[in-house]
Amino acid sequence: MSIFHHTCVRNTVPPHHPLYGKVVYVPAMAEGSAEAFSAALRWMGIEAHPTPPSDERTLELGGKHTSGDECYPLKVTVGDFVKITEQPGFDPKRTVFMMATGDGPCRFGQYVPFLQKLLELLGCPEIGIFAPRTEHGYEALGNFGTAFVRGAWRALVSADMLRKRLLRTRPYELEPGAADQAFGESVQDLCETLERSCSAYDCQRKAIVESLERARLRFEGVATEETQQRPLIGVVGEIFCRLNNFSNHDLVRRLEKQGAECWISDIAEWIGYANQEAARRLRLEGRAFSGDMLKCLLRSRIQHQDEHALLEVFADDFRGYEEPSYAEVMELARPYLPNYGAEGEMVMSVGKAGYLARHGADGIVDISPFTCMNGIVSEAIYPRLSRDLGGIPIRNFYFDGTQSDLDRDVGIYLELARSYREKKTYGRERLGRARPTVAA
Ligand code: SF4
Repeated sequence: MSIFHHTCVRNTVPPHHPLYGKVVYVPAMAEGSAEAFSAALRWMGIEAHPTPPSDERTLELGGKHTSGDECYPLKVTVGDFVKITEQPGFDPKRTVFMMATGDGPCRFGQYVPFLQKLLELLGCPEIGIFAPRTEHGYEALGNFGTAFVRGAWRALVSADMLRKRLLRTRPYELEPGAADQAFGESVQDLCETLERSCSAYDCQRKAIVESLERARLRFEGVATEETQQRPLIGVVGEIFCRLNNFSNHDLVRRLEKQGAECWISDIAEWIGYANQEAARRLRLEGRAFSGDMLKCLLRSRIQHQDEHALLEVFADDFRGYEEPSYAEVMELARPYLPNYGAEGEMVMSVGKAGYLARHGADGIVDISPFTCMNGIVSEAIYPRLSRDLGGIPIRNFYFDGTQSDLDRDVGIYLELARSYREKKTYGRERLGRARPTVAA
């Protein structure tokens, strides 16, 4: 039976919209998230797909079209995009590549100009680039109307939750592959739900909640054995490399295989941080009482309400795994990297590492691309953070597409985590509250 009421109305972008009639390719940064984001675009009547799975050809093409000075996420993304241009029937006039951008303190802002130049060199200047900006809290997505911004946020938050539930379940499954199967089916269910949902906010939210409830049942159906003493490893770092299994050589799965459970920082955290930064910049510019500030606050408040409503489904499952407020992360980062003097993922990584350590993690892993500015700054801070927090082992893992003996390094690191676990002073806590996202 359909979960939608017969009076449901579907959204669709108008014919004059730049994405009307196009095919948008969304970088497959995180498993489940790219699929859900693409479904939110299809909900607007725009054909959208995640980029095909990365492989050796990705690195070959990425390497061919970059100089080696660029960041690894750019190499992977460019490789995946160029691979699409090689597909049979590829039509440059209908193609749009999505590439988030921002001013930021690092090379992130250069990705879009680089891609534009590359597409010209490849003889495909007709390919469009859809580039939402970080420092505007991704408000450029608002060109689609509030509906899409809200639908996309719900998509990303829901996918974050499914991934978090996967990581809570997989290390303890009795039948190998069962948790991944529950995750895959749940992502598909979520995407179908999003794509078919109607334009009324309440109706869509109800449909997503029902989809997440079905997901919860799937995960509950996975037989587990939770009596094992697994070290809990917090995973922070650069957002793409941290979440992209291809780029990080499936580091989370490798940690799990050697006995760990992982708690990885999600995408919603970064969007919430971008909202906070947008509000802070407006205040610095003397526009604390402007229309832009009002929009920013409203967006944050609505996102918080949506996140809270969706999170309710997993409230029991995530007890003890509550995400911190953004203010708390900033506060924890402040002694090392105050957010009025530093910005970007380094602040989030350091603050979140502090939060995880204080809430009973047995170790912290920072996943970053080789030469990533954020990773390098965080790495310089971690020894002091570790000393201040009772010696918790914090280890940077850098990636550039080449790797030596990663499993050996993981094994050594987990030995440190296990020995820290025996002496740590911070126990696991049950906080029982959700992450507020309102820009204060
Ligand atoms: S965060 Fe790191 S990897 Fe990403 S663009 Fe900045 S320097 Fe490059």
